[in-house]
Amino acid sequence: MQRVERRNLAVQAAVKQGLLDQDDAPLAAFVDLAGIAESVSALRSAWPDELQVRHAFAAKANPIVPVLRELRKLGMSCEVASAGELAQARAAGFRGAELVFDSPAKSRRELEQALAEGVAINIDNFQELARVDDILSLRSSTSDIGIRINPQTGSGSIEALSTASRTSKFGIALDDEGNRTTLLEAYLARPWLRWMHVHVGSQGVPLRLTARGVARVVEFAEEINARAGVRQVTGIDVGGGLSVNFGGDDDSPRFHDHVAELMAAAPALFRGGYQVVTEFGRSLLAKNGFIAARVEYTKSAGGRRIAITHAGSQVAMRTTMVPEQWPLRVAAYDQLGRPRLGTPVKQDIAGPCCFAGDLVAGGRGLPLLEQGDIVTLLDTGAYYFSAPYRYNSLPEPAVHGFDLTEDGDVAFTLLRRAETVEELIGR
Ligand SMILES: *Cc1c(COP(=O)(O)O)cnc(C)c1O
Repeated sequence: MQRVERRNLAVQAAVKQGLLDQDDAPLAAFVDLAGIAESVSALRSAWPDELQVRHAFAAKANPIVPVLRELRKLGMSCEVASAGELAQARAAGFRGAELVFDSPAKSRRELEQALAEGVAINIDNFQELARVDDILSLRSSTSDIGIRINPQTGSGSIEALSTASRTSKFGIALDDEGNRTTLLEAYLARPWLRWMHVHVGSQGVPLRLTARGVARVVEFAEEINARAGVRQVTGIDVGGGLSVNFGGDDDSPRFHDHVAELMAAAPALFRGGYQVVTEFGRSLLAKNGFIAARVEYTKSAGGRRIAITHAGSQVAMRTTMVPEQWPLRVAAYDQLGRPRLGTPVKQDIAGPCCFAGDLVAGGRGLPLLEQGDIVTLLDTGAYYFSAPYRYNSLPEPAVHGFDLTEDGDVAFTLLRRAETVEELIGR
């Protein structure tokens, strides 16, 4: 069954089962568990079988522990970027080499702990390298250790999410004066440096640009290995950063397209001399989650039609703050959770927050919404309900996983309960 049908069944079942009650639960988030399994399987099958590839989920895209646990069950590893994410990943069962730790601001204690536990790390800068030298002079470690390289191949359409610009804050800038030589010497002097990391992201970066960044790093690894006279660098972590199609239901680009671009740009990666790690977040989860909210009121002002709903900045901050870069699709359902039919009428879909820009969609053509209807914000399984904005003290909504049973019913599992008033007071 297709994702769209599953979603429609889930909305209707959620209404029936009281998960979208107008008073008790006017806002909730949903995760399509079968969809996650499909996405993981698409990622796996995109890579050649004969290559040793470990796929790590970038936890920040959706660090809800039962979601991470589900991904682990599907054979994923986990990429984390803070002590908090590391703790969440551990709570989901990830251990040692199943974890990749990538923060650009790792504290000494965090590094010591990661190296003691065999967690893979990617060093962000020369100062961090000196710190790791120091720790390793005191104790040995089984961790895979790499350096994050910024290939400086340029930005995508969203500057704030472009990690490989000339001046990016991430990694060591490969083309800055002297860095290539210093890096080369750093590797040759440290036989335990066996990995190289690059993450050319994220949303808005074209595949070709991502592939060019990876290719530059693979070429550099080849150069080091040639100079070392042995295969010193045995692993390349190619990062994540595949863009998501927020304009329709298709997955595009697909993981297969990404691998095809990499094969063309960096053939040496596929010759069998390297283990590979990937770190996808958005492309695995975005299309497998949605937010549903009740319409509380509808009105018009100066000729503008507005539906006031319970989903706004608290769950869709990027969209409300930078709407031109983060448009979301909205689907309309009636009170019973059936897709609402009717001639499209231009409407603004507003949230509950007390600022005028709290709109999840402006001038959107949708069947005219009524009080009690439901709107869903699509493709929000990554970086939306899992990255809340605490303005106006709005509680975090419940997150429900769903799956279809054999007789076609929808079974929900609570992945995260709604935040309580007591928790709000304690913040
Ligand atoms: C955020 C991040 C990712 C995941 O990026 P997506 O665009 O969600 O795939 C992977 N690696 C690193 C180092 C990151 O910071």
